[in-house]
Amino acid sequence: MPLTAASASREIIVGLHDVMAKRMSAQAKLNTVVDLIANKLRSEVCSIYLLHDGKLELYATHGLRVEAVHVTRLSLSEGLVGTIAAEGRILNLDEAASHPAFAYRPETGEERFHSFAGVPIVRRENAIGVLAVQHAEPRCYEDIEIEALQTVAMVLSEMIVNARLADGGRRGRGETGAQRIAGLKLVTGMAKGVAVFHQPRVVVEHTVADDIEAERARVYSAFRRMREQIDHMTRDAEFGTIGEHNEILETYKMFAYDEGWSRRINEAIDSGLTAEAAIERVQQRTRARMQDIDDPLLKERMHDLEDLSNRLLRIVSGRMGTAAKTGLQKDTVLIARNLGPAELLEYDRRRLKAVVLEEGSLTAHMTIVARAMGVPVVGKVEDIRHVASEGDPILVDGDNATIVVRPTRALTQAFEQRMAMSQKRRAQYATLKNQPAITTDGARISLMVNAGLAEDAAMLEASGAEGIGLFRTEFQFLVSAALPGRQSQLKLYRSVLDLAGEKPVVFRTVDIGGDKALPYLADARDEAENPAMGWRALRLSLERATLMKAQARALLEAASGRTLNVMFPMVSEPWEYEEARALFEEQVEWAKKSRKPVPKAIRYGAMLEVPSLAEMLDVLLPRLDFLSIGTNDLTQFLFAADRADPRLADRYDWLSPAILRFLKRVSDQAVAAGVPVRVCGEMGGRPLEAMALIGIGIRNFSITPAAVGPVKAMVRAIDAQEVTARVGKLIAAPAPDLRKRLSDWAKRHRIPLG
Ligand code: PEP
Ligand code: MG
Repeated sequence: MPLTAASASREIIVGLHDVMAKRMSAQAKLNTVVDLIANKLRSEVCSIYLLHDGKLELYATHGLRVEAVHVTRLSLSEGLVGTIAAEGRILNLDEAASHPAFAYRPETGEERFHSFAGVPIVRRENAIGVLAVQHAEPRCYEDIEIEALQTVAMVLSEMIVNARLADGGRRGRGETGAQRIAGLKLVTGMAKGVAVFHQPRVVVEHTVADDIEAERARVYSAFRRMREQIDHMTRDAEFGTIGEHNEILETYKMFAYDEGWSRRINEAIDSGLTAEAAIERVQQRTRARMQDIDDPLLKERMHDLEDLSNRLLRIVSGRMGTAAKTGLQKDTVLIARNLGPAELLEYDRRRLKAVVLEEGSLTAHMTIVARAMGVPVVGKVEDIRHVASEGDPILVDGDNATIVVRPTRALTQAFEQRMAMSQKRRAQYATLKNQPAITTDGARISLMVNAGLAEDAAMLEASGAEGIGLFRTEFQFLVSAALPGRQSQLKLYRSVLDLAGEKPVVFRTVDIGGDKALPYLADARDEAENPAMGWRALRLSLERATLMKAQARALLEAASGRTLNVMFPMVSEPWEYEEARALFEEQVEWAKKSRKPVPKAIRYGAMLEVPSLAEMLDVLLPRLDFLSIGTNDLTQFLFAADRADPRLADRYDWLSPAILRFLKRVSDQAVAAGVPVRVCGEMGGRPLEAMALIGIGIRNFSITPAAVGPVKAMVRAIDAQEVTARVGKLIAAPAPDLRKRLSDWAKRHRIPLG
């Protein structure tokens, strides 16, 4: 069947267009279609198999025996046709019978035909049927012939779906049933819901172009817009979405400008497809190629291309919003490659039940926000965006870092039972709410919570914590479309203090930058390659003094008549703390002069998150009312391991002698100077880690609200002196498996670890 790809496809597509418009039965249309394709491709056989009641049924044929129509039925994975549908792949064989999957069906009379080529008919990434051609002469089909078949299959899929001829279409890679996938534990908890993609997939509705020039123009302007977006993202990498870090952006850029890609899309348009269908068509081809790639790095890059292709599709079809913009309709398991904290906060908290990410890391701010929201998160779930389809039911077990896509009834029942048990355990923790956090030998441990939204403050009472040890004021900035003014800050701080009542609240001045993106604060300096070590937190606040002054005034006024506890993030040298404190003191003077109300006392603290500060504690401690150790940042700097990089997410352990020795030195020095020291990073919210911290002398914690119960249960079961002796030995003569040794010891002493 010699032909030129675009012209042959185009002729068939024009013909299909006419058939689609005709008033005739669906069966008659299919019969016409197989004749048309066979004729144009000069093929002896052309057959269409469609998925019906879970089987691939021969619906129409030109060349095989007509008696076989609606009689020949194959299971998914059965025969050549079943293999094509199950694996979503193309088969191109000079001798069909020599393929291991070949299943002879005598009723078709196909024994005369040696060569065989088949392509899946795909809808929403799932095969709903197969289009096949056959010849008596044994020969492989040429690439352009296969391409023509694929293009035709694409248009056929629209026709088949419109005529409701096939099942909705299960996915094409044999993943029809339940699938359990393991990932990385990011936020514990169990939840179930339906899959919703953060970046919704565009379903191509119209495949046949009315005006090819107009389609070309649409693709041209979509490419221009997409390239602008990518350039913009690369420029603003500092405040870009996490996950879209430099390497990915660079690859994006490379693909976005790839002439080969745009040429292939244009060729597909030439063959008669709409812009959307052409993009999808080229994407399908990439997907098919991806299946044969073993190199994981190359595969990853192919995913990048797929992301970009989805972006182009959204631009060309004008559907740019995320699922948050459209609104969640049901209990949702949100699926994304990665998310930024601000993106997560856009979702309706009543509907958002869990998040599953292809990337993700333990101390990325998105994870911290999810933890604060009580939303379980499983990260590093490879390929989830391809395994699950929009609307698939999903069970998320954040405690064991596994998910089940499309669970069976039995799996769902077992999951629900475990969910009920975990609720029971939570209820048991609730009974500890009014019990003090005291070890068996009488050491008092202070448990406060980390918060960032007014709702978190409302949870304070329920958690039984002693106060808010870290209020991340930047969260308000993250959820706002523009810089929050002094009045709205004042309103939030006041309501937090009111909700906390007698309990103390430690406000941290804004920690913007790093992975906490603020699109409205981007300026020339946002091009940093390494934002976590860049222009963020106190560094940014000190330079943008007006921002810091507004915050200081809001805090001072909100805390009038009470004690204001304020601390500064990312202090690297004592002078930064002094400058920030001086700025606050100036505002106090200003308030007094202006006869504005001021707090009855102010306690100033610094966060120790940058290792250099540990060397300057002799200078700093006398100036502090308290010290707060932010282990999330501190450990990323100690290990030189980006906290937001998923590849490093489980590489280093908090329970390492290096971390514990470092923290012990800091804690000992603060205690000797009589300055209270508190750990407020995520590390303190894990019972085993918290136990190790108690072992090096830490007595004050600020942790995620859900961790208060489990940590308190651990505290009440330990003898602090015994723990100190044990941890002391482990860090003095360290073994590589510190975590295991400590947890074995805890088990032997029947210490509950959540
Ligand atoms: C930390 O770094 O440990 C910390 C508590 O601050 P954040 O996680 O907000 O950076
Ligand atoms: Mg920090």
